[in-house]
Amino acid sequence: MSSKAAPILPGATLGILGGGQLGRMFTIAARTMGYTVMVLDPDPASPAGQMADVHLEAGYADAAALARLGQACAAVTTEFENVPAASLVALARHCRVAPGADAVAVAQDRSHEKSWLARQGFATAPFALVYGEGDLDAALAEVGTPALLKVARFGYDGKGQARVGSKNEARAAFREFGEQPCVLEGYIALEREISVVLARDDAGECALFPVAENRHADGILDVSLAPARVPDALAIEAREMARAVADALGYVGVMAVEFFVTGGRLLINEIAPRPHNSGHYTLDACVTDQFEQQVRALCNLPLGDTRLLSPVAMVNILGDRWRNGGPHWDALLAHPNVKLHLYGKAEPRPGRKMGHFNVLDADPAAALALAERLRDVL
Ligand code: AMP
Repeated sequence: MSSKAAPILPGATLGILGGGQLGRMFTIAARTMGYTVMVLDPDPASPAGQMADVHLEAGYADAAALARLGQACAAVTTEFENVPAASLVALARHCRVAPGADAVAVAQDRSHEKSWLARQGFATAPFALVYGEGDLDAALAEVGTPALLKVARFGYDGKGQARVGSKNEARAAFREFGEQPCVLEGYIALEREISVVLARDDAGECALFPVAENRHADGILDVSLAPARVPDALAIEAREMARAVADALGYVGVMAVEFFVTGGRLLINEIAPRPHNSGHYTLDACVTDQFEQQVRALCNLPLGDTRLLSPVAMVNILGDRWRNGGPHWDALLAHPNVKLHLYGKAEPRPGRKMGHFNVLDADPAAALALAERLRDVL
């Protein structure tokens, strides 16, 4: 698409596929701006369903539910990459759909994503595709050890990933994953991990949020900091690469690009065709947050100002915090510069993302120090 269609204004109905926390924060942003929101998610207790005007409790491939969603909505988006591409195509017969099925399809399969990135000339960790046990020898020879074996589809937050140091370990991991298609990746000595969330509109205009620096624990995002503690030149390069990825995809909507920093260089780790956990800092620290931006891009509105108003540290709150008498909300809420966001999930399972908090401070080191202290006492 090269020119912009007419804007979809408040009062219209917007739809979202997926009722998790990302869908919830989209729903809140859209309703705040005066839109009606319809959520499609099979879970009757879904975080977004609780906030929506209408919750369609049905699967993502349910033809009748998709038709109802498409007929009721002026535009539909998605909160996760595993939505069937055919569902997006079916919806597009009724209404505007952004991002499109092609862009989502690239990001929903690691083997497609890595191959696409390599074809487009973007630097990634060395990788090889593994479709059967017979591919493991050549793959290990190509990427070396240690390596990470990752399932191509439906892996998230470090799930479906195993670090392997030998052929035997790789074989065992492949079998443990049920011999499904995988990507073997060289293990990178990470100096830092950073990410860029951006929005791109129909006309190809991009609005990029400041670069976030991310720390993971057990494969799950733990803390994000903005601005990232990287040289300006590297931050500029990351934003340029993220924009180039969005341009090459012809992307419309909000997306994120995650990077590894190694030897002072950037490698692309992953693309997310949706708002991203590492962009939750924007909720309290930027003029426009990533969910309002998702509404704006979906509705053909001018993209919002992405300016960072204050240094910020974001901490994820996992279900593990519910053990040992926690969480101690009083300790968190005692601080006037801490902003709490909970997702309305009833069951606090270990590793489950229950919420997050943002700590704002003019001094980035103080924001990080308080964030870490509160994470430990929570
Ligand atoms: P992913 O789900 O692929 O984003 O992986 C989750 C986390 O695991 C990343 O954010 C990194 O901290 C770590 N990781 C993933 N791939 C690699 C790699 N090739 N080398 C080193 N660490 C990695």
